[in-house]
Amino acid sequence: MRQKIVAGNWKMNLLKEEAESLASEVVNMAKDETPSDVKVIMCTPFVHLSKVKSLIGNSANVFVGAQNCYTEPKGAFTGEISAPQLASYGIDYVILGHSERREYFGESNEMLATKTDAVLANNMLPIFCFGEVLEEREAGTQKAVVEKQLSEGLFHLSAEDFGKVVLAYEPVWAIGTGKTASSAQAQEMHKDIRDMVAAKYGQEVADATPILYGGSAKPSNAQELFAQPDVDGGLIGGASLASRDFIDISKSY
Ligand code: 13P
Repeated sequence: MRQKIVAGNWKMNLLKEEAESLASEVVNMAKDETPSDVKVIMCTPFVHLSKVKSLIGNSANVFVGAQNCYTEPKGAFTGEISAPQLASYGIDYVILGHSERREYFGESNEMLATKTDAVLANNMLPIFCFGEVLEEREAGTQKAVVEKQLSEGLFHLSAEDFGKVVLAYEPVWAIGTGKTASSAQAQEMHKDIRDMVAAKYGQEVADATPILYGGSAKPSNAQELFAQPDVDGGLIGGASLASRDFIDISKSY
């Protein structure tokens, strides 16, 4: 059985009080409502991490994640946050390679490979994002695009380290657009991704790797997406900012 995961990516949203209310609501609702075999993760802006971590307390199924970290452990890199710093706050997960980081901040597969190493070296778990843009989907090159992102960003890892990674397939044309990939499109790509992992690390590792879908996932489509055999959960943007929607998604298996 693969781990089921519903991760919220808050992106650059929420002021202090709003973040605290949302996190408290999610923790309380997840305790009462989320099936015990589903992990709920809140990936918050850096400034909220410490508070959200303390609000989570010793909750059994809720975890906290960052949305990025820097490649280097410390030094003169003004404005950046390192993996050891995140680890020192007890952060569990780190999103890496989100399409917004790739597009607006020029993050390359090579840089993401280094960031992945930094996260793993500090005993945190990467949620590694990848996916094609609309022109690539229209040209039918999505599989090759994803294969390149995985092989350059992750396939340098040992099988043991790869086993700690959560994959998040996010077709860029579906992010924040209201245009979800159909469940058939998601399943087809997730199956291809699992086959790529199997070709590199073997079927056993591939069968154990959680692959999340991201892109306009919401309560009304989560059930159909999560019902696909190779879709193990979701990386949720907009709908993670409303506790009711986010928890409903966590109940959609
Ligand atoms: P939306 O759910 O808002 O489309 O965002 C998806 C996403 O980018 C999650 O990382």
